[in-house]
Order: sequence, then structure tokens, then C-alpha cells
Amino acid sequence: MRGRSGWNADGVSTVITNIGELAGADEERWLVEDAALVIDGDRIAWAGPARDAPAADERYDARGRAVLPGFVDSHAHLVFAGERAEEFAARMSGRPYSAGGIRTTVERTRNASDEDLRANVRRIVAEMARQGTTTVECKSGYGLSVEQEERAVRIAAEIVDEVTFLGAHVVPDGTDPSDYVSLVTGPMLAACAPYARWVDVFCERGAFDAGQTREILSAGRAAGLVPRLHANQLGPGPGVRIAVEYDAASADHCTYLTAEDIAALAGSETVATLLPGVEFSTRQPYPDARALLDAGASVALATDCNPGSCYSSSMAFCIALAVREMRMTPEEAVRSATEGGAKALRRTDVGHLRPGARADVLLLDAPSHIHLAYRPGVPQVARVWREGKAI
Ligand SMILES: [Zn+2]
Repeated sequence: MRGRSGWNADGVSTVITNIGELAGADEERWLVEDAALVIDGDRIAWAGPARDAPAADERYDARGRAVLPGFVDSHAHLVFAGERAEEFAARMSGRPYSAGGIRTTVERTRNASDEDLRANVRRIVAEMARQGTTTVECKSGYGLSVEQEERAVRIAAEIVDEVTFLGAHVVPDGTDPSDYVSLVTGPMLAACAPYARWVDVFCERGAFDAGQTREILSAGRAAGLVPRLHANQLGPGPGVRIAVEYDAASADHCTYLTAEDIAALAGSETVATLLPGVEFSTRQPYPDARALLDAGASVALATDCNPGSCYSSSMAFCIALAVREMRMTPEEAVRSATEGGAKALRRTDVGHLRPGARADVLLLDAPSHIHLAYRPGVPQVARVWREGKAI
């Protein structure tokens, strides 16, 4: 295979043989059994029945286990300092806790060095990779000043694939909301746009209202960024419909949806990104994944990894919650964590293993993708390749 693909002239090809169950490699059928997969350089070169596998430079025996695309985590907040374990413990024991929330993390993040923030992002991205996540989206939003937000997106862009400008996370203490929106849509956006692909707003009561959300998304779009939105997390609201109106790539959370919201998502290209780790960690009701899927909406699963509302980097945990608590089938959950995440990031090169895909491959220490939900909390990652290289 060497040299034929043209994807990577230096690439060594590897055939993964004896795959018991291969997911996401066939256009017609999501799962195929007794399969093989060829990685050439950083790309998938071939997938099909094991008996037809072409020769390659190297051979890896999957010993009957399951192979999936690497997980695509399309929603995370990783540029932060400190943690909030005490707040979590207080919430779980029903004790009131001081409403520090996001602002606690903002203060610690502002006081951290670039090197500390960079190390934190690298630490969590490595933690994610060990658990099978090969594409990561990361937002700013704990800086809330021009310099601090610029620093957050710049550091994120050094490390992850997908960077989102979330200056509109919360209005900082002591700032007039309309002054803050002017800052976000003016100098802050100008400083951050070169490092980001996406613009996001926390559209929620207590954060940014419908008018402010539209203003920020419009400004972001004029600066060349593509909208995505935190919508309908804490209660019903206009977020989902604004996301659809702006053709956002994704409306994230979707915990409180009306029938109109579900119909709007189903009739759009906007993905409903569900973050069940948040509902777990805040003891909130789970979103109605079943209603979204039955209406024909596209669904993604992501972690929302952040120090406040969900400090988990585990996509497998999200899959288990989606199956147990949100009535998704294991196949729906795994597809939402791979191809759903890719769609939420408008990426066609990840989230599947068809020829031409980036060679982001997850070998489970299990015979089937079902084990991700069936054996929750159990480490089941045998090997991960990212861009064709074993991690
Ligand atoms: Zn979030």
C-alpha cells in the first residue's frame, strides 16, 4: 500500500486484522463483522471483510475485538485553573453552596500563568485520548476580558482541533451587561477571531437573552466565525430556535425542549448536542433524546468537560448515561458520540472509518460497542490510533 495513497508519502501502512465488529466503516451498514481495516499514513485506506484485506507494511491482530472511530467530543471547556470539588460535594448533599459558579473559575483562571493553563489543557486532552477521544472542541469563557479571552483561544488553538470563542459565557461582576456585549462584539471578537472557528453564547436566563444572543452571533458571523449555542439548559427559552434561525452547527444541552423546539431542530441542519454528564453532575432531569431521534433530529453526545457542572472527560460515561437514562440504543449512543459529534463540528474527515477518513481508530477490549454501556465505569480501551499513530 505504501506510496499509493498520496495522503502521506512517509506513511507506513498497517492492516488491523481479525476485527470482530467494525463500526462506521461501511456506507450501507454501520456494523460489519469479521473485518479488517488498513491505515496508510494518517488516513484510512481500506475497510472490508477480513478475507479480502490487502497486504500492508505492518499487521495488528485485533483478536476478535471491536473497532470504532475515535470519539468526537464536540463540547468542552478546558482552559481553566483550579477545581470545584467542594461545590460538587455540597450540591450532592443538598447543602446550599455559595453561588460562586463560573466566577470562581474566572478568578483562578485570570491569575494563572500561560504555562499553567497550557498544561491543564494538555493534561485533559491526554486524559481524553487515553479514553478513546481523538477530536476535541474547546471553548474560551473563563477570561471575560479582551486579553484573557484572547489568551484562552490562543492556548486552545495550540492544542485542540476545534476552538470556540465564548466571551459571552457570563457577564463579569461589576460590568453593565450592554457594555459587556459591546466589548464581546467589538475588541474581544476582533482579538479572538483569528484563533477560533466558532462563536458561542450562553443563551440562558441569568446569562444572555435573545436580543444579546442574536447580536453576538451576528457579529461573530460577520467576523467569519460559525455559530453554535448553549441553549435550553436550565429552563425553556429561545436558544434552540435562535440556533436554528442562525443555522448554527449545534444547539448544546437541549435539556428543556418544547414540541416546537424539537420540530425546529428536526427541520434543520442544526445538531442537538446532549451533555448527560451535566445532568448527572447537577442532578437535573435528562434531555428527551428519544423525542429528538424519533422526530428525525441529528443528535450528538459530548462531555461538556469543565470544573463546575461536569468534570468528566469520559465519552464512554456519556454513552452509558445516554443508554440508561435517555433511552438511546447502544448503537444510537455510539454513533452520536462519533459521527454525531463530527456533524456538530461540520467535519467529514472524523467520526467514521470509511476510506479517506483521518485514521482515528479505537480498539475496545471488548467484542462489541454494546459493552461501553453494558459495563459502565470499566476501562475498555485497548489501543487508540490518532492520525494513524498509536497513542
Ligand atoms: Zn458548555
